[in-house]
Amino acid sequence: MKKVVVKYTFKQQINKIGLWIFDNEIHLIDEDLAPGDIAQVFSSDNKFIGQGYFNPTSKIVIRLLSFDSNEIINATFFKQRITQCWQYRQKIGLSNNCRLVFAEGDFLPGLIIDKFNDYFVIQIYTLGMEKWKDTIIQIINEIFNPKGIYLRNDLPVRVLEGLTEEKKSVGKEFNSQITIDEHGLKFNVDVAFGQKTGYFLDQHFNRAAIEPFVKNADVLSAFSYIGSFEILAAHFGAKSVIGIDDSAWAVEQATLNAELNGLQQKCTFIKENAFTYLKTLSNEKALFDVVMLDPPSFTKSRQRIQQAIIGYKEINLRALKMIRPGGFLISSSCTNLINEEMFRNILFEAARDAKRLVQQVYYNTQALDHPILLNMPQTKYLKFIVLKVS
Ligand code: SAH
Repeated sequence: MKKVVVKYTFKQQINKIGLWIFDNEIHLIDEDLAPGDIAQVFSSDNKFIGQGYFNPTSKIVIRLLSFDSNEIINATFFKQRITQCWQYRQKIGLSNNCRLVFAEGDFLPGLIIDKFNDYFVIQIYTLGMEKWKDTIIQIINEIFNPKGIYLRNDLPVRVLEGLTEEKKSVGKEFNSQITIDEHGLKFNVDVAFGQKTGYFLDQHFNRAAIEPFVKNADVLSAFSYIGSFEILAAHFGAKSVIGIDDSAWAVEQATLNAELNGLQQKCTFIKENAFTYLKTLSNEKALFDVVMLDPPSFTKSRQRIQQAIIGYKEINLRALKMIRPGGFLISSSCTNLINEEMFRNILFEAARDAKRLVQQVYYNTQALDHPILLNMPQTKYLKFIVLKVS
């Protein structure tokens, strides 16, 4: 048994956050503990806290995997955990496409697995999880007998863990364009060339939630990626939909996806920078019934929170100015460091500056296949708010 002792007592660790133990919290480390090894973590008063993998290169020196001192961390352990994840996704009706494993949220820190029909995309972002890569691939093969597995380890955070980036299929090559079904529509998702794992499954339920707000509406939607929110808006009865994205590839895919669903007459996708384009449209006094915003994360570092707040305020302010009275602002934020309350404050200030009265009529977070740990705010990252605008 390789041991690590932290600086705090067993009682104090209740106040510590989630599954992470930081370098400045460590008191003692067994000399023979090597990077990637499993460590048994004890409090300063010598009580067992949990077991997790060790990486002295990272600021997060230990990520806990288990709170049971008798549990052996081996292939059987990972198979059990992944099987439990799969059972839950099946239970909630997400067996075709789902985030099968949501890292810390599923007590498997450093591991993301997305399922798109018979294809799987794996992302590993820690050294401790990288050690189990072959085991995880084997488990996916055993449980699912998939048509293809793709590794999307093109993650800059891997460098902080002492790993390199990689992006490739496992075993035989396959066509990376996979057609998935979402709320009765079809979307081509590209697991190799798309962003992140190819598709944003976290907004799955929120995309359905726009239905009551978009009927007969002229919709403007910024950060449209491959067109999911926009094409669904058209499907739910919007009169016209404009999607904006600054990726030419995303605009092309969104246009193809609209055609795939026979909704190309209603949907137009434009390659533009959303910040400048929203400004231009609002200066031109353009008007819409609904504006949707779903930008990428604006920051991962605390030093840049202020800029992120300014960014959110700007796009939401511009959007609010263009909404016809009685219309809706559908605004998302996936920046981890901006919590629900901060995001509401930003929207409130934007509405005040735009001289609009707003009422929140819908709120949600990420989809059910992205579980949240109650003592780990980092696992709750998505904010999705619908404001009625007077
Ligand atoms: N709404 C999408 C996900 C959006 S992800 C969905 O439901 O699937 C964020 C998108 O914003 C990406 O497609 C990215 O290309 C785009 N993007 C990032 N910065 C941008 C900018 N400044 N202007 C326009 N689009 C931008």
